[in-house]
Amino acid sequence: LEEGCSFRKTHNIHVSGSNIPSPLQDFTELRSRYNCKFYLLRNLTEMGFKEPTPIQRQAIPVLLSGRECFACAPTGSGKTFAFICPILLKLKHASKDGVRAVILCPTRELAAQTARECKKLAKGKKFYIKLMTKQLTKSADFSKLPCDILISTPFRVQFAIRKKKLDLSKVEFLILDESDKLFELGLVEQVDAVVKACSNPSILRSLFSATLPDTVEELARTIMHDAVRVIIGRKNS
Ligand code: ADP
Ligand code: MG
Repeated sequence: LEEGCSFRKTHNIHVSGSNIPSPLQDFTELRSRYNCKFYLLRNLTEMGFKEPTPIQRQAIPVLLSGRECFACAPTGSGKTFAFICPILLKLKHASKDGVRAVILCPTRELAAQTARECKKLAKGKKFYIKLMTKQLTKSADFSKLPCDILISTPFRVQFAIRKKKLDLSKVEFLILDESDKLFELGLVEQVDAVVKACSNPSILRSLFSATLPDTVEELARTIMHDAVRVIIGRKNS
């Protein structure tokens, strides 16, 4: 435990919450601690990821231990892999039993970028990873379209839910990426509709953001249970 503390200090990782799992020393721990399959480690090597970034070191073990997470780390610090990695490890393989993970992004561009990163990381392993395009919101019937991980803006998910084309009752992971922007006026109601539609009682919800204003944290606390807070550097730098 002592060791975990000084290691966190070295990497500027600040945590709050009870029973927080120790941070990753390196990516090989994904294999020794979490039985990570080779495809993912190979993809990391191919993408030039040699060492986990601070947010990855701490947020990955938190999510893999089944805890919800508020994560705050600067732009460009690898938050995408911090939430994709636990999702890929927990889902294990493709399934046709409905959507199991939803990643909400505040803009279409960010959703598209996140979907690309997700597909690169999952390369070599069969997963159904879908970016919610305008076309899909209009025409897809998700009860017939296999989808493990759905990446979208809140608006498009809400639209598909309203059309009764998308059932989110089996979702195991809900990620609110760039959550400070998702909680801005105008989006917050759409986000709320998606949160409600993800009705699986054992869902894990997590927030990732570059800043964590108090108002966002307060709002978020109302939807999360026993969340671990992970902050890299300073809260609103
Ligand atoms: P954020 O969401 O925090 O702004 P991203 O997840 O978009 O950051 O990552 C920023 C860039 O860093 C991406 O190009 C990504 O592929 C790369 N990256 C992520 N993790 C690592 C790592 N451990 N080592 C090297 N590069 C990484
Ligand atoms: Mg990001």
